[in-house]
Amino acid sequence: MSQVRVRFAPSPTGFFHIGSARTALFNWLYARHTGGVFVLRIEDTDKERNSEQFLNVIYDSLTWLGMNWDEGPKVGGDYGPYRQSERTDLYKAYLQKLLDAGRAYEKDGAIWFKLLGERYEVFDDHRKKMVTKVKNTPAVIEDHIRGHVERTEDEDFVIVRSDGNPVFHFVNVVDDIAMKITHVIRGEDHLSNTSKHVELFKAFGAPVPEYAHIPLILKQDGPGKMSKRDKGALIEEYQQRGFLPEALVNFLCLLGWNPKDDREKMPIEEVIRLFDLPGVNQSNARFDEKKLAHMNLAYLLELPLDRFVEQARAYFTRQGTFAAGWPDAAYLREVLAISQPKIKGIDELPAYTAYFFTEDFPIDAKAREKVFKKGDPFARLRELATLLATADFSSDTGLEEAIKQLAEKNGFGFGDYQAIARLAVSGTNVGPSLTAMFRVMGRERTLARIERMLAAG
Ligand code: GLU
Repeated sequence: MSQVRVRFAPSPTGFFHIGSARTALFNWLYARHTGGVFVLRIEDTDKERNSEQFLNVIYDSLTWLGMNWDEGPKVGGDYGPYRQSERTDLYKAYLQKLLDAGRAYEKDGAIWFKLLGERYEVFDDHRKKMVTKVKNTPAVIEDHIRGHVERTEDEDFVIVRSDGNPVFHFVNVVDDIAMKITHVIRGEDHLSNTSKHVELFKAFGAPVPEYAHIPLILKQDGPGKMSKRDKGALIEEYQQRGFLPEALVNFLCLLGWNPKDDREKMPIEEVIRLFDLPGVNQSNARFDEKKLAHMNLAYLLELPLDRFVEQARAYFTRQGTFAAGWPDAAYLREVLAISQPKIKGIDELPAYTAYFFTEDFPIDAKAREKVFKKGDPFARLRELATLLATADFSSDTGLEEAIKQLAEKNGFGFGDYQAIARLAVSGTNVGPSLTAMFRVMGRERTLARIERMLAAG
C-alpha cells in the first residue's frame, strides 16, 4: 500500500479543546503507527470566524502535547501552502474543472454542485416550497470505526456562496485530493457530510479516501456532547494549571481507544505500536476529570526530578510566584524534591511550599487549636529544640530515630513532637516528611522558627 497520509484540519474559530486534541492525536498516532505522514491543514476560509490568536493556540497546544506535524504551517511541505486562506487559486482551478465537466452551475449568485441522476420536483413540507430532487445511488462508506455506512445525497448543494466564499465541503475535498490524503480521521459529527464529500471525490475522478469517524466525547455529567464551554474542555487550561502533557496525551488516547487489556498508563511509544483504527470504540467516550487527575498524578510521581523542577519553575513563572525574587536554585530544588511525592498537582506547589521561602507565614488557626488541645505542646517543643541544637541534620532517618527515642524516653509518641514542630516551622499540619523538611530548611532556620513560636506563646 502507498504511504499513509492523514491530516488534522482544524478551523481556528475558538480555543483548542479536548475533542480537537483527540482528533489530532488519533491522526498523529495513525501516522506514527503506519510510518505515514501527519499533515496539519488550517481550514480558515470563513474569514469572519477565524483569528490569528486561535491559530497560535492550535500550534502551541499541538507542540505542547508533543504532536509534531510533518507538513503544514511553519514546517512547510510539498503540498502547501497549508492554510486554506492561501489556496484560493487552487479552488478556482478545481471549480473550473467542475464547471467544464457540467458538474457545477450557477444559480441565485451561488455555485451549486450537480448530482447525477434523474430529477424530479416535489413539495418540501418543511421548507414549504417545491424542490428539485435527484434519484441518486447511495454513497457507500466502509468506515474503519463505524463499519458499513450508506447515505444518499438527493439534492444539489452549494459549493461557492454568493459572496464568493467556497463552502467547507468543497475546499475540504479539494485539499484532500491535492494533498493526497489517504485516510480521513475525524469526529463523528462529520459522518453526515461524508456522502457529499464522496460525491465530490467521484466528480473529480479522484480516489475516495478511507474514513474513520471517531465517536463523540460526552460531557462528564449528562447525556450531551462535551462542548467548548464545558468545564475542563480547553487544552490551554491544562497547560496553565501545570498538567503534564504526557499525562493528558495518555488520557486522550483512552478516550475511545484502549490496548485491549487493563493497562491505562502507557508510554506513548507503546500506544503508537498498538494503535489501530479498528481498535477505536464505536461507543461514545465520557470525559472523566477524576481519571485525568489520577493520570496526571501517576505521571507526576514518576517524573525525574530535573523535569519536575522544570515544570514547577514554569508554573511559578506563569503564576508570578517569585516575581519579587527567586530563591536560591539549589534550595528550591531541595524543596521541590521533598514536595514531589506529596502533592496532587503542580498547581498545589505555590501554597504547599510557601513557608519555605518566607519567615512571614501564617499559623493555621485550626491546626493550632488541635495541637494545643493535647497536654503541654510547648514542653515537647522545648525538648525538641534542645535535641535539634546538636542533632545530625544530614540524615532524615537518623533524625527521625533521634526524635523517636526522645519521645519514648518521655512517654510520648513521635506524632506528639511532630504536630507541634510542624506547626512551628510551617504553620500547618500537612507537608513533606518532618525530618526532610528540617534537613532542607537547615538547623538555623528550623531552630529560629521554633524559638519564635515559643517566644510568642
Ligand atoms: N475543519 C473541519 C473541522 O474543524 C475539518 C473536518 C475534517 O476533518 O474533514 O471540523
